[in-house]
Amino acid sequence: MIDETEKSTNNGGSPRTLPLPLGRDSDSEPDGKLEIHRPFDESDLDGEAVRVIRRLSANGHAAYLVGGCVRDLLFGLRPKDFDVVTSAHPPEIRKLFRNCRIIGRRFRLAHVYFREKVIEVATFRAESMLGDEGELLIRDDNVFGTAKQDAWRRDLTINALLYDVERQTIVDYVGGVEDAENRVIRVIGDPQVRLREDPIRMLRAIRLAARLDAKVEPSTWDAIVEHRHDVLQAAAPRIGEDLLRMFRGGAMAPAFDLLHASGMLEVVLPELHAHLQRELARGSDEELQAMRHTLRQADLYAHEGRQLSQAVQLGVLLSPVLLARPAGESGSDEAQLLTERFRPIAQRLAISKRESERLRQVLRAVKRLAPRPGRRRRRALGALMRRHYFADALDLFELMADATGQYVEEARLWRRRYEEEYPNGPPEPPRRRKRTRRSRREHGEKGARTG
Ligand code: ATP
Ligand code: MG
Repeated sequence: MIDETEKSTNNGGSPRTLPLPLGRDSDSEPDGKLEIHRPFDESDLDGEAVRVIRRLSANGHAAYLVGGCVRDLLFGLRPKDFDVVTSAHPPEIRKLFRNCRIIGRRFRLAHVYFREKVIEVATFRAESMLGDEGELLIRDDNVFGTAKQDAWRRDLTINALLYDVERQTIVDYVGGVEDAENRVIRVIGDPQVRLREDPIRMLRAIRLAARLDAKVEPSTWDAIVEHRHDVLQAAAPRIGEDLLRMFRGGAMAPAFDLLHASGMLEVVLPELHAHLQRELARGSDEELQAMRHTLRQADLYAHEGRQLSQAVQLGVLLSPVLLARPAGESGSDEAQLLTERFRPIAQRLAISKRESERLRQVLRAVKRLAPRPGRRRRRALGALMRRHYFADALDLFELMADATGQYVEEARLWRRRYEEEYPNGPPEPPRRRKRTRRSRREHGEKGARTG
């Protein structure tokens, strides 16, 4: 067992316990339900989510915090958002909240609107009946259920915990608290079944293992390795979204290592895999090490609170492939080559035209920042600095310089020049049609650097 665990991990070290002590006074019930007294500081909870829960409870419904927020609290992290789950059906929820809208076609859930946020309130639901002829993919999950069924339909044990705000108690049907305590990523139920019925869960498992510095439990890991190619059955936007989420927020290096070790890299980014394999076949792991170095540098930036745009994240990941010199054919059009190389990747991950174009601009600008002497160059580069994508290019250039130790001086110089020129942040990007703002938000670009 121990050997198996070692085999399937990203980080090799011994299991760590959580930073926060878990309450030990737990109650076990015949249906596998565990109740664990675990007070979280009320100031760590979202006030509005708590108000929603209290109103539902006051009207006779069961209501809990659920999913990612309970997991993050348990790991001592600040949750991104707070989701609520309840026994109340959508029309009953709507009756209780004036500021409420029912959304969703496949599964109807309620959005309760507050001035600055929306709290998502879902009704307990059961997993749908599965087709019986080996058809595992979930087609329809629109069936209300019990709290226990709702926990069981979720992906990972640590994602299926309910938090009873009033009793300050975690309700656990799946062993998620113990897994959190041991930092273990485990699929609920049989991973052979659960990962195939929704293959995106494999990427989610890898993402959370990387982000939480947790070990993937052996049977979950083996199922990922075995069924990794099934990921491509998922819709491209889901694959792209989950892969990009993996490379957001400070755990790029461990995510990459897990993708690599599981063989998933070959499935989702075969171009990068082939590039690294070619080098390895020549007996050099330099490219692989350089990749790790750059990713670690990106993680370091994230931990320092530096936001990197999606174009920069993609650049970190893909520049070895996209900027590699073409074998033999000299004089081919670099811009064209870059576009052609990126096209299949963009298709597989449903990366928008706008985002693809930005990546192309950023990578080309980065190449121009590497110093070549001459006056004309300085003038041309002065113009480059006024481009809306320059901030991204500089981020990527600086990151690569810090990772490799090459061009560090130049990167600092450019940063100084740029900050002198634009003390209030980068220039406005050109106005685009309709989709611009929404897709930018969806892709997680934030703050001044999006310019
Ligand atoms: P994050 O903090 O990155 O948002 P999250 O776990 O909250 O992580 P979401 O995509 O917001 O991720 O999903 C919310 C919850 O819905 C999860 O915690 C999990 O319980 C459930 N869930 C999400 N995706 C799946 C899936 N593919 N299969 C089963 N359950 C899922
Ligand atoms: Mg979430």
